[in-house]
Amino acid sequence: MDDLEEITASVESKKITNLIREVVDRVRVTNTEKEVLKLSVGDPTFAGNLPVHQVMKEAVKEVVDSDNFNGYGPAHGLLCARQAIAKHHATLEAPLTENDVIITCGCAGAVDSCLTVLGNPGQNILVPVPNTPLNYIAAKARGVNIRLYQLLPDRQWEADVDQMDQLIDKDTVAIVVVNPSNPCGSVYSKQHLLDILAVAEKHFLPIIADEIYNDLVFKGQHSYPIATLSKNVPILSCGGIGKKYLVPGWRVGWILIHDRHDRFKKEVVPSLIKVTRKSLGITTLVQAALPKILDTVPKSYYENTMSLVEANANIAYGELSVVGGLTPVMPSGALYMMVGVKLSKFPHINTTVEFMEKLMSEESVFILPGECCQYPGFIRLALLLPNNKMREACGRIRAFCDRHQT
Ligand SMILES: *Cc1c(COP(=O)(O)O)cnc(C)c1O
Repeated sequence: MDDLEEITASVESKKITNLIREVVDRVRVTNTEKEVLKLSVGDPTFAGNLPVHQVMKEAVKEVVDSDNFNGYGPAHGLLCARQAIAKHHATLEAPLTENDVIITCGCAGAVDSCLTVLGNPGQNILVPVPNTPLNYIAAKARGVNIRLYQLLPDRQWEADVDQMDQLIDKDTVAIVVVNPSNPCGSVYSKQHLLDILAVAEKHFLPIIADEIYNDLVFKGQHSYPIATLSKNVPILSCGGIGKKYLVPGWRVGWILIHDRHDRFKKEVVPSLIKVTRKSLGITTLVQAALPKILDTVPKSYYENTMSLVEANANIAYGELSVVGGLTPVMPSGALYMMVGVKLSKFPHINTTVEFMEKLMSEESVFILPGECCQYPGFIRLALLLPNNKMREACGRIRAFCDRHQT
């Protein structure tokens, strides 16, 4: 029986690659004297300094105790949950009913469904760079071509809209827009979003908006859901509770369908619903708790998170902008900051992956190399640690850079 052939996996499944996992899972700690400081993960629960709101725990407990939600719900989401999501996201400019909401397995599931429904092999989709693999993974696996438009660090990571316009051809099916941005921490102005919408409108293209960080902005900033700024561009807005409510493990996300001129009505909406039927939907327990969560958890909950993130951004910017070879770009929201690394200043470091590996083994500080975001030459810092640990991490990065400079 030893010469039986190995069973093969499908071509599509083998095309699924998540660069973050591949790079990050390889890392080893060799300096055991220093506490490991993780600036690599975008999971707000990992350091234990951001507790889940009491109302949320109660809401889920009540659902469990009610015994009313142990059966299958509709695959695209419980009615009460879709109603609550619609109510909380509807605006005058972009109205929503429960029929415009599809519940998914996290925001990742939402983007995955949109990419699955909107493109055929050989067609193409526009995606920002730097990006997270989630923004294109489903399209790539299915043979949809990815065309990257640049986000510009010296313009607060605004999209290069001229390039966006030029990349579009007859096979382009959609534009992915991520705002506020992971990995950049940028928050687009109303005017910039209007400029992006103008490109979409000119080419009659829909937008897939990854807006999981909507409302997660620094003091004095405002994030506009892109659908509130257009009457003509069809928009699928993807979101979820993972980041804003600090529970990524609860896996609740959604697609908000902003159909314009009925362009999604006949095929796209029915197909988005069909896609949910592959897995019969997500757990009913958290869905049924959503009305209470969305109605009761106060704004101050996520504003507190953002105060911590903003204070960390100021610490990191202050500490790292004076380090030769590093160029931090000050964010305005989300949970991250990008820092440029001028590799020519570090004679024994050839790539930002190497920068990450050496920093980890010498200083026990874990950052995400830009390679994971298709953007070598930069590193991404997550801004979620307590302020004193953030300061400590930046001090170690400084010491490391000083030691390795020419
Ligand atoms: C974290 C993240 C997601 C995934 O959200 P989940 O709700 O955990 O699936 C999607 N998009 C971006 C930009 C993210 O940062």
